[in-house]
Amino acid sequence: MTPLLTVDEALARVLACAAPLPVERVQLGQAAGRILAEEVVSPVDLPPFPSSSMDGYAVKAADLPGVLRVVGRVAAGRPELRTLEPGEAIEISTGGVVPVGADAVIPVERVVVRPTEVEIRESAPSKDNIRGIGGDVRTGATLLPAGELLTPARLGALAACGIEDVISSRLPRVTIVVTGSELRGPGEQLGAGQIYESNGIMLGAVLEAAGGVVERLPATEDTEEAHARALEHALQADIVVTSGGVSVGPHDLVRRVAARLGVQEVFWGVAMRPGKPLAFGVRDRTLVFGLPGNPVSALVGCLLFVRPALLALQGHPAPAPPFRPGLLAVDIRQRPERDDFVRARTTWSAEGALLDPILGQDSHMIVRTTAADALVHIPRGTDVLAAGTRVRFLPL
Ligand code: AMP
Ligand code: MG
Repeated sequence: MTPLLTVDEALARVLACAAPLPVERVQLGQAAGRILAEEVVSPVDLPPFPSSSMDGYAVKAADLPGVLRVVGRVAAGRPELRTLEPGEAIEISTGGVVPVGADAVIPVERVVVRPTEVEIRESAPSKDNIRGIGGDVRTGATLLPAGELLTPARLGALAACGIEDVISSRLPRVTIVVTGSELRGPGEQLGAGQIYESNGIMLGAVLEAAGGVVERLPATEDTEEAHARALEHALQADIVVTSGGVSVGPHDLVRRVAARLGVQEVFWGVAMRPGKPLAFGVRDRTLVFGLPGNPVSALVGCLLFVRPALLALQGHPAPAPPFRPGLLAVDIRQRPERDDFVRARTTWSAEGALLDPILGQDSHMIVRTTAADALVHIPRGTDVLAAGTRVRFLPL
């Protein structure tokens, strides 16, 4: 028997098959969470004019302290066209255009206001409370490089520069096929040996949050015909995710039926727990993931392999799982033959995240898993990792 792939080798093989999808033009209002496929250059200076950061009076700093004649008023969007002369002040609102000739704005709180003049008792440095042209960004400067995730602040920056749309990969279509004759939907009465289907909702939630346009098929019976029908439809998507039926039992049909439909298997089996009997293949440009049926195994396989592939299809520059550093709260024994992914609860210490494994590490225990907020990577090895050892974890 060939040795199982390591987690890193398996991920590398998945990502090697996950080339970015074609791009499209996306309106900003639809672009939250998308990944920029092309750099965006600012078409404007921001601010586009010298603007006041305060409600107050535009003055010449050299006139201060002093009593100044008020000769005009500037509101946001309503500039004053006259040039400020020595001895004059112009009332100005936040965001108003600082008049030519003025080089400081004195906040109204520091001004004694009289009917036609103002008295300012302190001096002020030149440029005080004036936002210079292009202080935020200059015309032609890179606003955002390709590969950036469009977060709310970045969308705000694009909108502030008057940009209407961006170039981004089209969103990957994901079809989820859950298999198992024992699976029932919510509201259905459970008969002998039956359980409620839970992987579809869970995997869909992970993949929708990562940009997938998710379709969930009704649970597929453990017959070759039912598998073939579901998979044939699902193979029109960019990513097919199946759960269950990928092990070595007589009812484990996913791999056989997928092969019959032209899916070329890239690997089957990863040296990890949970989630060892994970299959990955391709048909044309469609990526096919056969996740194990146990809910925790399916979740771990989805986070370690499917989500990265989904991000890579969208052109994400760093699609691998976003592990963070942490410290073990207890001793954990390594296994020589596999990597373990332990569900744990995080507390924060002065040294960083402390990771304490939850009770209930069996791969069917999805309810126990709700007590965890971290998936801790215990790499293969022969040691006992003592409490305090540095490890890495994925936030759950
Ligand atoms: P399998 O990989 O098909 O042998 O399934 C392993 C275990 O996971 C069995 O106990 C199944 O009943 C359970 N299982 C499979 N698919 C699901 C699902 N979609 N939701 C909940 N449990 C499942
Ligand atoms: Mg099954």
